[in-house]
Amino acid sequence: MDVQKVLKEINTDVRAQIGEFEGRVADYIPALACAPEDGFAMAVYDINGNVFEVGDISTTYTIQSISKILTLTLALQRYGDSLWARVGKEPSGTAFNSLTQLEFEKGIPRNPFINAGALATCDALYSRLSAPTFHMLETFRKLSGNGRISINTDVARSEFEHGHRNAAMAYLMKSFSNFDNNVEDVLKAYFSFCAIEMNTRELARSFGFLANRGRDIHSGDIIIDAKQNSQLNSLLFTSGLYDASGDFAYRVGMPGKSGVGGAIVAFVPDRFSVAVWSPKLNKYGNSSAGLYALEQFADRLSLQLF
Ligand code: GLU
Repeated sequence: MDVQKVLKEINTDVRAQIGEFEGRVADYIPALACAPEDGFAMAVYDINGNVFEVGDISTTYTIQSISKILTLTLALQRYGDSLWARVGKEPSGTAFNSLTQLEFEKGIPRNPFINAGALATCDALYSRLSAPTFHMLETFRKLSGNGRISINTDVARSEFEHGHRNAAMAYLMKSFSNFDNNVEDVLKAYFSFCAIEMNTRELARSFGFLANRGRDIHSGDIIIDAKQNSQLNSLLFTSGLYDASGDFAYRVGMPGKSGVGGAIVAFVPDRFSVAVWSPKLNKYGNSSAGLYALEQFADRLSLQLF
């Protein structure tokens, strides 16, 4: 199977229609609005450590909601199944930043990949780590293979200044006794996680453990135990792409996670971690060109799990 050849073909195909993909760059966080509309990159890490890549591979961007995978990983390491008393495992069927469901369901977010669920998970982590942002950054530095990965402080600040919905969710959870720490402190940590910046190769490498039974591809270190890794993949399959997770499962057939910075990561167990980036988002907040590229990748290499 010639992965590099397939990526090259997809790059040519995407480039030819890059202006035609639906949607627009996220602008509800002002600092994200200047992302290049026609940017595109894709990288594949196989579990033997081989990397294949095309497009604007050295362009960096903030990973946004994709950080929620690592927040959950670190929280599961510390809490195990008791974490599920605070956050559910079901698809939400509502937007990633919806408040209404949280009110109806008494402050228990549907899953850890919508904003409310990630905030509850982040709050749990905050209770167990003395320096959560530093810990998260260090973990990404190790996983990505780039010791200089950093937080885009302009984006983190912009998110904090415009993060009223996220603050509302956190306070609503606090009113239901599902939030332990100071809301502003946890929001700052959450926005810093979202504003961690890297390129597409580093993104694919960082999450390689999800395709590798929970072990880092390069060091062999256990990032999460094999059973939890399989559970995490299952949750990503059902809830990783907000209220378009069903469509992603149908079109791409892999577990994955998107972020409003325009990146998506997806996993083929025991084979690959794949990352794609293109900042124009559809109405669900998912990269339009990224979805197309992943669908092509899955089709051309017959990678759908079912
Ligand atoms: N930082 C973003 C927010 O909290 C993350 C959203 C996303 O990527 O889905 O709104």
